[in-house]
Amino acid sequence: MAELSVINAQIFYDRTVEAIRDVSLTVAPGEIVCLLGANGAGKSTLLKAISGIMGPERGLLTKGSLNFGGVSLAGMASEQIVRAGISQVPEGRRLFVDLTVEENILMGGFTLPAAERGQRLAEIYQIFPDLVPHRTRVAGYLSGGQQQMVAIGRALMARPKLLMLDEPSLGLAPKIVATIFETIAVLRKAEGLSILLVEQNARIALEVSDKGYVLERGRVVFDGDARTLLDSPEIQEFYLGMD
Ligand code: ATP
Repeated sequence: MAELSVINAQIFYDRTVEAIRDVSLTVAPGEIVCLLGANGAGKSTLLKAISGIMGPERGLLTKGSLNFGGVSLAGMASEQIVRAGISQVPEGRRLFVDLTVEENILMGGFTLPAAERGQRLAEIYQIFPDLVPHRTRVAGYLSGGQQQMVAIGRALMARPKLLMLDEPSLGLAPKIVATIFETIAVLRKAEGLSILLVEQNARIALEVSDKGYVLERGRVVFDGDARTLLDSPEIQEFYLGMD
């Protein structure tokens, strides 16, 4: 089974700026794990290193080990990482706004044999039936929530084992955020997915997660099961606000 295991990772921009310092974490098969922390804590950097979106050739140097299913991700191109079973939904969704909903979703299926893409597309529409009436519309005209669904659908096209989501709640109304998080919980069961979630909205992230890690200036300062973090006075004071 495919476990993500990050061991003593150090990640540098331009070989010198240390954005992640000695971070270790695991995401077991079928687990939902959230990475919390303020702006600039290093959450997106860790996801970019795991997905290979920004590799050494683009200035991101990783030391320590990043393993998935016992295989090292070091030196793999992002396409190989997708083939290994890891897909990312990037921060800000990054859709091709001039292409249609369907063209955007299909874009995520480049690693599948052509004969399987139609079947997988039908499965994506079963997960997100609200997208069906919009399939031929240009993605830029959709609401923020619908665009987030397209971005998740695109990532799911590759049939990942691990889905990484960077700030899925960004810029969305609370009701839409709740729907997106319900979908995340459903996906874990329906697709047998592991999920690594980066979120500013700590409460909603912990409510859906099994485990959480809190990053501060590139280091893990708290980690534990989600219930314990939700109940922790420090986490409540610094990350959950006063209720
Ligand atoms: P946010 O929620 O703002 O995205 P984050 O926790 O995801 O925050 P990162 O974006 O990973 O944080 O940033 C971690 C550190 O790395 C910050 O100090 C940031 O300034 C620095 N950093 C991010 N991107 C680059 C880059 N391309 N070049 C150099 N430094 C960078």
